[in-house]
Amino acid sequence: MKRLWYVAIGLLIILVALWGLQRHLYQEPVAQDEYRLAKGAEYENVVPLLVLGSGPAGLSAALYAGRANMPSLILEGDQPGGLLTTTTQVDNWPGIQDQTGPKIIKQLRDQAKTFGARMIRDTAVQVDFGSWPFVVHTQEGKTLQALSLVIATGAYSRTLGIPGEKKYWGNGVSVCAICDAPYYKDKEVIVVGGGDSAFEEAMQLAAYAKKVWVVMRGNQARASANMKDRLVGYSNIEIIGSKQLRSISGDGNKVTGVVLQDSATGVSSEMDIDGVFLAIGHIPNTAMFAGQLDLDLQNYLILKDRSQVTSLPGVFAAGDVHDRVYQQAGIAAGNGIKAALDALEFLNELGVNSDFLGTIEANLYDVRESGPLKPVPTATSAKQLTRMIDSLKPLLVDFYSQTCPSCLHMLPLINQASARFGGSINFIKVDVGKTPEIAKMFGSIKVPMVRLFRGGKEVANNNQAMNRIELYKFITEHLLGAVNSVPNSP
Ligand code: NDP
Repeated sequence: MKRLWYVAIGLLIILVALWGLQRHLYQEPVAQDEYRLAKGAEYENVVPLLVLGSGPAGLSAALYAGRANMPSLILEGDQPGGLLTTTTQVDNWPGIQDQTGPKIIKQLRDQAKTFGARMIRDTAVQVDFGSWPFVVHTQEGKTLQALSLVIATGAYSRTLGIPGEKKYWGNGVSVCAICDAPYYKDKEVIVVGGGDSAFEEAMQLAAYAKKVWVVMRGNQARASANMKDRLVGYSNIEIIGSKQLRSISGDGNKVTGVVLQDSATGVSSEMDIDGVFLAIGHIPNTAMFAGQLDLDLQNYLILKDRSQVTSLPGVFAAGDVHDRVYQQAGIAAGNGIKAALDALEFLNELGVNSDFLGTIEANLYDVRESGPLKPVPTATSAKQLTRMIDSLKPLLVDFYSQTCPSCLHMLPLINQASARFGGSINFIKVDVGKTPEIAKMFGSIKVPMVRLFRGGKEVANNNQAMNRIELYKFITEHLLGAVNSVPNSP
């Protein structure tokens, strides 16, 4: 009998824990009657239309909001401009032939700004859709109240999870040919995948590498006919079908080979190779919304009917974050326009018009709050850099090059880090293309490269692209603990 009691109490505890877990994982959405406008005093840091993400979808949404005089704010995310900024040649953007991805993004950005869109280098890290206005917390510590939200957070590159992939990440394993191709001059590389991304990466690599093998697990490439035609023109690209990458090996510092397995026979073979580029599709950036918005089995946001409305009124989505079928920049831009129009209709129905916005003007988020960031100075001579390295105040040196997109992505983050840690650490950047004599002081430099110095000695370095969180962590782990123990440090 006593044992039965123990079992019953145990079951009860498990049920309560499961109930708590369920509540934690699935937050109750905002109730319908909470969507009502309140007095200005009840709002703080309000954004009428908050856009998460700054690729074609996010920028187009902000452009349309701006044209309708609806104040919007874009949180640009860790990769401003999104995946399109890693594409060299774009010939399918309607109306413009033969343009680079970064150029298209710049034009869209400038156009959105012309119509009043505001954007900040910050990333949403947590959302609370349990009440309205929706609450969004950012990496930089801001808390914003959004009257409507367009999620355009895009997708990130899929990886294989095979032995050696993590170990040689950044040292022979990459997902960005445009960033890393110059390091493979006269080398042999493989690109895994058979879609447009794989073909595009192969062509970017072919400009440098001696040989590029495109390894597909099936026999048919998914790439478009146009991409296939373009590839034919490259004598140093060869396609290997029906092979799967099973492991990546190296000498401890860099990749030297791979094991491929035949998809049909299961027979494995080794292949000497200097680099592995993965182009096997993408995973939507939706982890933050799990439990609050409906996602499909592959974690794409689910939309209602033919609109851009998610499962929650007032929250809209656009681009690769919901589109697993088309995944085209042009379509993402179109989705962004639709999302903005849907959001404008939602706001209009609630009564968010110029009169109402006038009453809450003092409660709107003021983008000027962040102020323009002072750029980190550029080193002009080896002597100047040596003096800074030898000074008592710790120093971060950012080596970059104008031809390295991941370096250019990091520059604004370095400025932000300087604004945040500048009291304890000096910051300087070195353009290795313009001042090779400074770069030479350090031997061969693979950019992006961040080096930390303290008391004349190097304490850490990192030669991989970092997002803001990784950069801040790198600085605090290697320098800030040490700052307090530096005698007389300012
Ligand atoms: P896709 O989904 O089109 O292709 C992914 C490729 O990776 C497929 O060949 C797939 O093989 C392969 N793959 C997936 N998982 C694995 C795995 N575990 N092991 C081996 N291979 C794997 O993705 P893309 O990133 O290439 O393209 C996404 C979208 O972006 C597309 O719509 C494309 O048209 C577009 N795009 C357009 C560009 C342009 O026009 N300039 C440039 C780049 C992309 P399988 O076929 O066997 O499933």
